[in-house]
Amino acid sequence: MEKFRRKLSKEQEIILKQEFVKAMKDSSFSKLVKSLKIDEDLAKRHTSALLLVAKEAENCKNCKSLADCKNEVKGYKYSVEKKAGRLNFYYEACPYLEEEAYKENLRLFDLPKSLKDADLKDVYLDDKNRLEALKAIKLFIKNYEDNPKGLFLSGSFGSGKTYLIAALFNELAKKEVRSIIVHVPELMRGLKDSFDSDYKERFLELKTIPLLLLDDIGAENITKWSRDEVLSPILQYRMDEKLPTFFTTNFSLKDLESHFTLNNTSIEKINARRIIERIKELSIQIELISKNLRG
Ligand code: ADP
Ligand code: MG
Repeated sequence: MEKFRRKLSKEQEIILKQEFVKAMKDSSFSKLVKSLKIDEDLAKRHTSALLLVAKEAENCKNCKSLADCKNEVKGYKYSVEKKAGRLNFYYEACPYLEEEAYKENLRLFDLPKSLKDADLKDVYLDDKNRLEALKAIKLFIKNYEDNPKGLFLSGSFGSGKTYLIAALFNELAKKEVRSIIVHVPELMRGLKDSFDSDYKERFLELKTIPLLLLDDIGAENITKWSRDEVLSPILQYRMDEKLPTFFTTNFSLKDLESHFTLNNTSIEKINARRIIERIKELSIQIELISKNLRG
């Protein structure tokens, strides 16, 4: 069936012409029209689409990562080609899309997305403390196949603990190792005394994920239930399966032990001790006291 196209009215023609003349003042637009080698009549009918093509090409020019993408469809550039005297518009996939696919291997539960860009190459080395942590991280990467222990990074607020472990996880993500960083206070806040189905799934993931960081442990409100039915089984499972587990905290192990002791009874002390023993079994302790990098 033949397509029925109405001819444009004089007024519409004038509007199109005006829009086109205005767009031609934009150098990226006029360059695009020139490079396509199309006549004014064809260009005029596609001014707004061509403007978008020109704008998105500009956006891509200085862009350094997928996270910076300013285009309408993230990771794609609206593009145009001329075929048989007509313009075809399409979305072109960004090279970063493929290049950064490994970033999906790290998942963040209640943490800023910026951690996906944490990179060992960017770690500040101005500090002796951080150097020791970095050494341990490099050793971990080297020995990853042999199930090395994770790290327990304790130290001052803003010293870069979370950043360092995220950088480590990103590095192994490039080798297709999957990982999770979970913000413990937020995890505990979301827990109810009964397992709903969402939580059950999350609980299973935290047990079985190849690399886990329990971030900011000690800052949570702990209950007997979250300690003995959530944290404890996660740690036990990961110990049994030799799954590397990392911790970051503002507290020492001694402080954590009192944090996990909910009252003065001996059974409480034993339960708290059990958590600490598991943390010790799972990780190498490093103290990171450094200047606050935040703000
Ligand atoms: P902590 O977990 O010890 O409280 P963070 O890892 O959150 O500290 O780091 C504090 C801030 O400093 C964050 O905004 C983080 O992005 C930034 N940061 C930390 N280390 C680096 C680094 N090596 N390079 C760039 N930014 C860093
Ligand atoms: Mg942190």
